[in-house]
Amino acid sequence: MNDPNPGRCPICNSAKIKVASTPSFQYERNLKCRDCQAVWRLACPLWGAIVSLLLGALIAGGMGYLLFDHLLSHGLSLSGPNLVMYVLFGVVFAFGWRMLRYGGGTLRGTAGQFEVLQEPPPSKGKS
Ligand SMILES: [Zn+2]
Repeated sequence: MNDPNPGRCPICNSAKIKVASTPSFQYERNLKCRDCQAVWRLACPLWGAIVSLLLGALIAGGMGYLLFDHLLSHGLSLSGPNLVMYVLFGVVFAFGWRMLRYGGGTLRGTAGQFEVLQEPPPSKGKS
């Protein structure tokens, strides 16, 4: 399902929308309607999925290579600066991995789809 009406609320069709908090990595930030308080996620375009996939593969692959290279030349050491570096590698790798999975999931149709994340509260109508 694609975004039915870009720039407008999918529930009440209001144009008064703002950017909402977005907890995890995704191509576009979540949007929130100022009128009915609904929160939704836009569909990720195909090229956005491909860029995510390639960039994620590059970051995760690059980090994997750097770590492997470092282990080969320095050996495994869990002390001081090495430990900090392993953690850093892990954090960046996890970021790349998430981009990779997001891009791949979008291409397979299991992620990055248009979705209403939060229905408007029933008590609040248009003011
Ligand atoms: Zn709305």
